[in-house]
Amino acid sequence: MENKLKQLLDEALRNFNILVSSINDGTRNVPIPSGFKPVEVTFEEIERAKRIIFDESKSDFKEDMVKHFRQLENLIPFCSSPKAFKTAWDMRTSILSSHDMEIITNEGGQFIPHNTNISNVFNYGQRGNVLGTNRRLVFAIRHSEGHYDDVLDDLGRFTYQPQNDTKIMLRYRLAQHLSKELELPYLLLAVMWFRYSVNEKVNYVFMISPVKVIDFENDLLDLDSSLHAPLTLQLITRAEAKSICNRLLSLNQTDSHVETRYELPRQLAREWAYDKINATEKGRQIKRWAQATGMSCPGIKCKKGPLAKPKILFSELSFKEIAFGHIISQNWAKAYSYLLDKVNHPDNLYLTCRICNSSLGDHFPDDVLRSEIVNNGTIGDWLRQHGIDIRNS
Ligand SMILES: [Zn+2]
Repeated sequence: MENKLKQLLDEALRNFNILVSSINDGTRNVPIPSGFKPVEVTFEEIERAKRIIFDESKSDFKEDMVKHFRQLENLIPFCSSPKAFKTAWDMRTSILSSHDMEIITNEGGQFIPHNTNISNVFNYGQRGNVLGTNRRLVFAIRHSEGHYDDVLDDLGRFTYQPQNDTKIMLRYRLAQHLSKELELPYLLLAVMWFRYSVNEKVNYVFMISPVKVIDFENDLLDLDSSLHAPLTLQLITRAEAKSICNRLLSLNQTDSHVETRYELPRQLAREWAYDKINATEKGRQIKRWAQATGMSCPGIKCKKGPLAKPKILFSELSFKEIAFGHIISQNWAKAYSYLLDKVNHPDNLYLTCRICNSSLGDHFPDDVLRSEIVNNGTIGDWLRQHGIDIRNS
């Protein structure tokens, strides 16, 4: 079996190579605190930047990518909450008192005493980027007070300007390109450090937060004009970071036939839970979408004959004849109550006809039905892929 991640990355790099070929040498005006600074991008620098990304002779790109996400995963337990990170950011100081730290830790902040043995991420006094394995990918960005644009908005979003370095610029565009091609945001760490005397030897503490790359579509339209553009990033929770790491690393498995999904955002999961969609307008939006897109019942009880018409289309049924089936039944979840908070999650639900739904009763779907549900998608899968269309149905 082919490695899915390898396939995706090979394809992504091929496409990136095409985008990169449009980059011309010439001056770029890079924003700095006092305005703009012209930066000369030469042909040689573009070539050097390309070699770092595309040269497979030193290391395999996929392996570097996997290491990147494994290293991130290892540091997730030490990450602060987005709220605490923002509080610390907005203090706009490089010196913390124990009182400041108390406020920040109460909001889910975690301070890491300076220790060069953990990672080169924890290096104070330097701004800019921390590069990952083989210097191919950006692993972390360091924030310190007085950056050219240090506004962190209420949703935890901010922009980060590349240094005056073509290689960094191209790595930023690569991070955006990978987010698009893998349909999974590229993750990195945001790092802040503060003066705080832990003891005579340790005088600095660090805060880290996972950040994801967002708002990249426009930059990818034309790399020649966007080469020096900043990255737009958003602070995310440890849970979201963990879910993105899981998804990326699961693509690197060659022994599993079951595709791993990223966790449905909790708000979306609550909004479209069983009790919110059963016999409601929201539920009818899903049914209308399924009818309009030619989806059919995954069950077999309603089949009209083995060959003539193998599957019943939802468009042949009225809303009342269409139901939301549970993969793990409600009664099973009541009997074994550890599942109670999950049983109405959109990923436990699928669209079915009434006849097939009733016939299943409290039983689990058999192999055939299960693979049909996986093919069709759960309600959660539909929300991941077609959420906007469903809302507009
Ligand atoms: Zn059916």
